[in-house]
Amino acid sequence: MVLENSPNAAMNKLVLNRFLSLPQPADKVQAMYVWIDGTGVGLRAKTRTINFVPSIVSELPIWNYDGSSTYQSEGSNSDTYLYPVAMFKDPFRLGNNKLVLCETYKYNRKPTATNRRHSCLEAMEKAADQKPWFGIEQEYTLLDMEGRPFGWPQNGFPGPQGPYYCGVGANRVYARDIVESHYRACLYAGINISGTNAEVMPSQWEYQVGPCEGISIADQLWMSRFILHRVAEEFGVCVTLDPKPMPGEWNGAGAHCNFSTKEMREENGIIHIENAIDKLSKQHLRHIKAYDPNDGKDNERRLTGRLETSSIHDFSAGVANRGASVRIPRACAEEKKGYLEDRRPASNCDPYRVTEAIVRTVCLDE
Ligand code: ADP
Ligand code: MN
Ligand code: MN
Ligand code: MN
Ligand code: MN
Repeated sequence: MVLENSPNAAMNKLVLNRFLSLPQPADKVQAMYVWIDGTGVGLRAKTRTINFVPSIVSELPIWNYDGSSTYQSEGSNSDTYLYPVAMFKDPFRLGNNKLVLCETYKYNRKPTATNRRHSCLEAMEKAADQKPWFGIEQEYTLLDMEGRPFGWPQNGFPGPQGPYYCGVGANRVYARDIVESHYRACLYAGINISGTNAEVMPSQWEYQVGPCEGISIADQLWMSRFILHRVAEEFGVCVTLDPKPMPGEWNGAGAHCNFSTKEMREENGIIHIENAIDKLSKQHLRHIKAYDPNDGKDNERRLTGRLETSSIHDFSAGVANRGASVRIPRACAEEKKGYLEDRRPASNCDPYRVTEAIVRTVCLDE
């Protein structure tokens, strides 16, 4: 872990702060447009000045970018459109400045291949009367500039897993500064971040977003990821969402998706939870395909049936069982209502695909 190797960490932030504290004209707002690139995992952003203070996202103009530089089009027909869909307060530039999540559309106004929001929204609108709620547990791993987990010895490995999960102390957790900064930045931005914890593998962390209804869970999760990359950049550290960053006896990273409908949350909702699990058991393959950006390939490395995972090949469910595909939390089984936890989504999943698959299987019986 050599921080001097990170050009960003080496910069003098005091000088930056001199310019960031210059007064900003009241009618000039910096809007940073953020979108998902052609990998389905990477995020891109660029900024424009808006000459008024926007109060809702629909006031923001459609914009465009060079899709041939983001694996989203050919150079000969490269203009790709940005449609603003969700607006957040900007925790980096402060004031009236905004972070703007966008959908991407091709020259012919059809969604790009990695615009998974378009069809997700259709499903969410059809199922709106069932009031679907989601809470996603985003796990991630911090890496140094050499691609090694942050804080791990250059040659060799840290001691075996055991003391790190929810740990405290300099030999237990690495880069808590990033976690704390990200948490506050998300709260400031208006993201419904509900908690955070250190994970089982050292330098692996988790935060939770939710519960959120419908499309907003994925909008908020994507922007929380952008903020995470942006905060870590400031510290000269990289974030990977790879679901198995270290092979061997090290836990992988997931994005457990907790899910409920209005019926499940009401008295004796456990009947509806069990009914949903029955439907999920019949669509295992559809879900595995939707739960990582490579149609199940990435999750092959993670869902081995070991290290708190289920096998990628079989569907299983159980109360308080962390080795199952779907877990009913103990408290929900006791109260006979609540939610279920789908443990299969990989940390690099697209939450639009995950929540769309769940809604189509459970709510729309497709
Ligand atoms: P775990 O015990 O699996 O580590 P966490 O506490 O990390 O669970 O995450 C639980 C998630 O479940 C949170 O994101 C929370 O918002 C979400 N959640 C709680 N109640 C519901 C509900 N009724 N429907 C959907 N999600 C819920
Ligand atoms: Mn240019
Ligand atoms: Mn958790
Ligand atoms: Mn976890
Ligand atoms: Mn979980």
